[in-house]
Parts: sequence; structure tokens; C-alpha cells
Amino acid sequence: MPNQKLIAGNWKMNGLTGDCLALTDDLLRVNDTGLFEKTRVLVCPPFTALNLVAERLSQNHLLLGAQDCHAAQSGAHTGCVSAEMVRDTGCTYVILGHSERRNGGETSAEVKEKVSAALRAGLTPILCVGEQETDRDNNQHIDVVSEQIDSSLPDDITADKFVLAYEPVWAIGTGRTASTDDIIEMHEAIRKNLNNRFGSEGDYVAVLYGGSVKPANAYEILWLENVDGVLVGGASLNAEDFIKIAEAGVAEE
Ligand code: PEP
Repeated sequence: MPNQKLIAGNWKMNGLTGDCLALTDDLLRVNDTGLFEKTRVLVCPPFTALNLVAERLSQNHLLLGAQDCHAAQSGAHTGCVSAEMVRDTGCTYVILGHSERRNGGETSAEVKEKVSAALRAGLTPILCVGEQETDRDNNQHIDVVSEQIDSSLPDDITADKFVLAYEPVWAIGTGRTASTDDIIEMHEAIRKNLNNRFGSEGDYVAVLYGGSVKPANAYEILWLENVDGVLVGGASLNAEDFIKIAEAGVAEE
């Protein structure tokens, strides 16, 4: 399993550039403690703020990602942003297949093309998967998530090239967190899927949990078996809360 936790903040469509810079500066103020060297901390602001946030990050270990990209490299795709453009801003990660995009009609086949585009551009994709509440009620949650993984990963991807984020849709932005038993069950099933596909290399894919993670529950979640980090929405917009979550991911010496 990866030797450092990955704490990723998805800022979604929040913040004008000035707000994003202020939040970045607040996060950087704690860099004195060396936190970003002890655990991997990633922020994913809106596209419009990426260039300027990247300038602020150039001298430290805080990581930068985007929230989506287009599958094509360039062309007649009005309003879209290619993986190469994302890379050009200074990002090294990109969130793909987030449930808020899948709910808007994005299919796993489309997500797969975007994952390939991210790899082409030298980005690390964070592939999001997760079941709806009805899938869980019908005891189909593991099948649904396995199917999303299988149909969203390109055939030629290797285990060292991506991150997976399990985000039960009913836990995103709702204040409801999956129980520790639910998280353990799903992350074990995901690890089995990855081992089936990649053999022992599957152990090294970082598998994140996302869904109403906050300072009060971060430690408990982060140190469950097969949990290699967290993807945080709402709580990542508050520097103090996000830093507390990141601190919960630092291994005790
Ligand atoms: C997310 O959007 O990926 C997310 C997990 O949101 P929240 O933490 O607000 O539930």
C-alpha cells in the first residue's frame, strides 16, 4: 500500500480567483510544520484559479489538481479544457468521473476516454466510483462499483498510474458518512478487484474514501484497512478543517 496518505480537496464550483488564493495562502501558512512533506495534500480548485494558485504553490509540497478534463487534445469543443491544458497550468492530478458529473449524464465509457487523456498528458487521474443509495438497499453496491471500475479504466493502464476514490453518492455533501463496516467492506472488494487485474501491484493503488469527511471522523476513516486517503468536498473549503483532516493522515512515528 502507498506509504503516505493522500488528502485531496475538491473545491467544486466555489470561489472566485481571489477567494481561491486566500484559501491557498491559509493552507500554506501551516507549511512551517512540514505537514505537506509528511503526507500528500492536494487541492483541486476551479479551472479559472489554477494558473494563479499554481504560482503560489511553486516553492512547496502542496499538490494541485483539476476537477475534470476533456478527452480530446484540442479542437472544436467549445467551453472545454483538455488534459494538456490542465497539465499546462501546473496540475499533476485530475479528478474524473465524479458522481456530480456522472449524475449529469457522464458515462463510464466517457470517463475511460478522459482517463486515457489524463495519462497522455502526464496527469494522475483520480477515478471516482460509488453506488446510489438504492444500489445499496438492493445489496448491489459492490457489483455496481466493480462495474464502474472495470468500465472506466483503460485496458492498458498500469497500477502505478492512477488513484481510485470510492464515494458513495448518498454520502456526498449530505453530512451522512458511510459506516466503518461499509467502508471496510467496499475497500476490501475494491482491493480484490485491483489485485485480480494487476496482481500484487494492485496493493499499491491508492484507494481514497470520500463522502462527508470532516475533522471529527477523518482519523477513524483514514486508518481503516485499505483506505489510503480521503477525497474531501465541503470541509476542504475551510483551511482549518482541511488541515486537521490532513494532520489525521500523518503516520505516527
Ligand atoms: C466530494 O465532492 O467529492 C465530496 C466527498 O464531498 P463532501 O466531502 O462535501 O461530501
